[in-house]
Amino acid sequence: MSVTDPVCGLEFDESLAIVHEFKDKKYYFCCNGCRKIFIKKPRKYKN
Ligand SMILES: [Zn+2]
Repeated sequence: MSVTDPVCGLEFDESLAIVHEFKDKKYYFCCNGCRKIFIKKPRKYKN
């Protein structure tokens, strides 16, 4: 299954993703850098 990184928009396989849970929702990131950006401003990326 492929997922999309909400910060950089990259698509990749779920098995390669860094998973982060926020308000009962799972978000998938390509790297820790993107995850950190999301954690700083999660409201900007909620979908
Ligand atoms: Zn990314």
